[in-house]
Amino acid sequence: MSEPFAAVDVIMTKRDGGRLSEAQIDWVVDAYTRGVVAEEQMSALAMAIALNGMERPEIARWTAAMISTGERLSWDVLNRPTADKHSTGGVGDKVTLPLGPVVAACGAAVPHLSGRGLGHTGGTLDKLESISGWRASLSNADMLRVLQEVGAVVCAAGSGLVPADRRLYALRDVTGTVESIPLIASSIMSKKIAEGTSSLVLDVKVGSGAFMKDVDTARELARTMVELGTDAGVTTVALLTAMDRPLGRTVGNALEVREAVEVLSGGGPSDVVELTVRLAREMLEAAGVRAGPDPVEVLRNGRAMDVWRRMITAQGGDPRAPLPVAAHRDVVVATASGTVTALDALAVGTAAWRLGAGRARKEDAVSFGAGIELHAAPGDTVAAGQQLMTLHADDPVRFARAREALAGAMAFDTEHRVLPLVLEKVSA
Ligand code: URA
Repeated sequence: MSEPFAAVDVIMTKRDGGRLSEAQIDWVVDAYTRGVVAEEQMSALAMAIALNGMERPEIARWTAAMISTGERLSWDVLNRPTADKHSTGGVGDKVTLPLGPVVAACGAAVPHLSGRGLGHTGGTLDKLESISGWRASLSNADMLRVLQEVGAVVCAAGSGLVPADRRLYALRDVTGTVESIPLIASSIMSKKIAEGTSSLVLDVKVGSGAFMKDVDTARELARTMVELGTDAGVTTVALLTAMDRPLGRTVGNALEVREAVEVLSGGGPSDVVELTVRLAREMLEAAGVRAGPDPVEVLRNGRAMDVWRRMITAQGGDPRAPLPVAAHRDVVVATASGTVTALDALAVGTAAWRLGAGRARKEDAVSFGAGIELHAAPGDTVAAGQQLMTLHADDPVRFARAREALAGAMAFDTEHRVLPLVLEKVSA
């Protein structure tokens, strides 16, 4: 088949700061997925986009072209509206686990396609896989069945969903082109639009443990994604939320599941509860569900826990099975008394990763029990000798490198330096 463009011309247009035409975008994304545009050509184009950016119409067209490379799911047969959430990723962010059951218990259906963790941020599927028997892969028919019977499902995106993103994300990961607002926004939104949810709440994290280190860039990413969703007919809003310190008191797969279950039992750390409730209310509003109970009520009366147990069971998991525990522990204690004023999310995420909770390459296995329990958070006053953190690992050799990452992570200054949990809301 003769091709309408030469990849090198498309690359040079963007290299020279030009605007790609709709036809160029449609072709290059499709031709890359077909293997006609070579990896080195797409990596040059991704770098040109990372350096020179894309205008809004280009980003919208790029997103649509990515969606067209695969299937688009639809949940129209369900008798309730759909709502989903996407977080740009953080340290200790286990909110997806209680959120789906909470929102389902309040009246919307939650079709959540998720991924595995790479680097210092954890992946929802890795967390859920620490539950004995739980399976991440479901066929579309099984996903629909769980949604009909339970109201919430969390599973891996199948290979038919935005295949262009699978290849492009792996390429960006090794070519220094992940940190580009047009590429991040189109990657995330192509998958969420193809997933078929009718409403979407984006949790855009800000701070050391997030992709977006400052509020202005986070706001720009949030605006771009909200516009992409809205233009595609998905009711989309975004919250900018704090990721300068970890969320909650645990980081690591099974440790985070334990904390999520505490939240579903009506307890758990106040920041995890607050963010779960806020995101749930935003999802219900975006989905147009006004008649159901409030998220706080379903956490208190056990209805969210009931959905959680059924959701885990529907995917082969045993919600009552004991969670994996790492073989070794190492306790970090305070060397002086004082009030904790900061706890660096990136340092804690890196330490948890070094303990075995995360992976360096896609094919690596994670240790389900590895991670960190935080016994003190910003605002807490501690005495010399008091426990600050417990590190968990299967191999005690890992403790030294984890402690190196944690050196200086906790500050005891006179001034509090943490961001508010929810910084702002971005709507269309
Ligand atoms: N998550 C995605 O799915 N894509 C990106 O580009 C970044 C984060």
